[in-house]
Amino acid sequence: MRLLPILLLLVVAVVLLLPLLSRIRLSAPRARRTLPDELVKDPVCQTYVVKSRAVRRTDAGQVRYFCSEQCARLDTGA
Ligand SMILES: [Zn+2]
Repeated sequence: MRLLPILLLLVVAVVLLLPLLSRIRLSAPRARRTLPDELVKDPVCQTYVVKSRAVRRTDAGQVRYFCSEQCARLDTGA
C-alpha cells in the first residue's frame, strides 16, 4: 500500500491548516465592522472627525462628537 503515507500526510496537513483557517474566519468579520468609518462634524470648530476617534458627549439624549476635549468643553449645548 503506497497510498497510506500520502493519506497520513494529507491528514497532518489538514490538522496543521485548520487553526489557520479558523483564524481567518474569525478576523474577517472584525475587519468588516471597523472599515466603514463615519465622519461626524464638530459643532464647535466645524471640523469633520472620524467617529471612532471623536470625543463623544451625550447631552439631553443627543450625542455630539468633537475633534478634541477642548472643543467638547467649549460646547454650550445650544
Ligand atoms: Zn473641534
